[in-house]
Amino acid sequence: MKQTRIPFIAGNWKMNKTAAEAITLVYELKAALAGMEGVEVAVCPPFTALAAVKPALAGSSIKLGAQNVHAEPKGAYTGEVSIPMLKDFVDIIIIGHSERRQYFGETDQSVNKKVLAVLAAGLEPILCIGETLQQNEAGETKNVLARQVSAALSDVPAAEISRVTIAYEPIWAIGTGRAATADDAQDRCAYIRGQLRSKYGDLADQVRIQYGGSVTPANAGELIAKPDIDGALVGGASLKSADFTAIAKAAKP
Ligand code: PEP
Repeated sequence: MKQTRIPFIAGNWKMNKTAAEAITLVYELKAALAGMEGVEVAVCPPFTALAAVKPALAGSSIKLGAQNVHAEPKGAYTGEVSIPMLKDFVDIIIIGHSERRQYFGETDQSVNKKVLAVLAAGLEPILCIGETLQQNEAGETKNVLARQVSAALSDVPAAEISRVTIAYEPIWAIGTGRAATADDAQDRCAYIRGQLRSKYGDLADQVRIQYGGSVTPANAGELIAKPDIDGALVGGASLKSADFTAIAKAAKP
């Protein structure tokens, strides 16, 4: 079944790169990835670089994404950005990254509202889930994942589920240089697909599940070769064109 899911590599640039720096990186990626087929690639720069990066990506198949959004279309939400504003630029929006949950108070409920709003606008969410180190060590990982999947996808209809990508990102692996083993990541991603199957039946086979957490050119191939891992959400290594390109190439079926 995996061969029908196109591998998907997305770069989460976090709070890095001015607009000028973003353009430089995008031109490097465009050149390095030109003509590559069989892998979907996206970059998610900060909001302030989107207007500059969008035209810089012209003529390339690299997609553009954002790192967050507000669920309401407009209103008195100082400092926030809405989906109608982002729709001019992006196809993809990362939702519920663990840094948003940890530092900005996002909850399963607010994540669900955002997922529903992104889907209603015809865009594609990358829904981030994952357990803390403490939850992992307490043997709670699968309970946490089940809860996060169920809450985030509450009221998401079957007709829209294939537009959702789930990024399984164990929090202890993010930015630590300590990735999950490929076998453990596969076990968690298979479990997540099982949760999807119990809600959506065979449509679960259409949902892409990425692994995220210290993905590098050295470990990407082994991770993405696993049957339920359909790509990667890449943080640190997405800021270096050579590393991100190597990860994208490692995802080629
Ligand atoms: C991330 O922030 O989504 C991430 C996976 O970061 P890193 O690749 O740096 O661990």
